[in-house]
Amino acid sequence: MSLETYRKKRNFDKTREPSGDRKPARSKTRAKKLRFVVQEHHASRLHFDFRLEMDGVLKSWAVPKGPSMDPADKRLAVMVEDHPLDYIDFEGEIEEGNYGAGRVAVWSHGTYELKEPGEAVQQLEAGKLEIVLHGRKLKGEFNLIKLQRAEDDEWLLIKGNDEFAEPGWKLKTMLKQ
Ligand code: MN
Repeated sequence: MSLETYRKKRNFDKTREPSGDRKPARSKTRAKKLRFVVQEHHASRLHFDFRLEMDGVLKSWAVPKGPSMDPADKRLAVMVEDHPLDYIDFEGEIEEGNYGAGRVAVWSHGTYELKEPGEAVQQLEAGKLEIVLHGRKLKGEFNLIKLQRAEDDEWLLIKGNDEFAEPGWKLKTMLKQ
């Protein structure tokens, strides 16, 4: 399990975030749809957490400006620790004194698939993940491209040029700042 870092950063007696101890329910169908979520997180700095269900955890990136439906926007996405699957619908307040204190709201959710057949984990390791999102706010192709020379685990999240692309698209937050 790769949730060690996630757990180390948090005290589950003090935060309402899930500990990830609960075993995720296994789907019986093979062609299980993988889920994604984008959480708006009003921590010391507002950012958007982009998470993809993969290998029994949520692979996670902190996106300072949030995703965009405009292919011209290259959004920095810093990979952070894997989160447990039951974080996918977490909303509410992470109280003062806890890691990431601040309000969290689900900004967008849905399912995703790989653009081409293959393994998501392999694409992730190769530093180029091409996915198709099926959500209400986020639709169509998105690419996550790892920046090779970056010190941190920095990636770019970029909307693919497809029929869902919206030049000039502007993000609206769910919660008041
Ligand atoms: Mn966050």
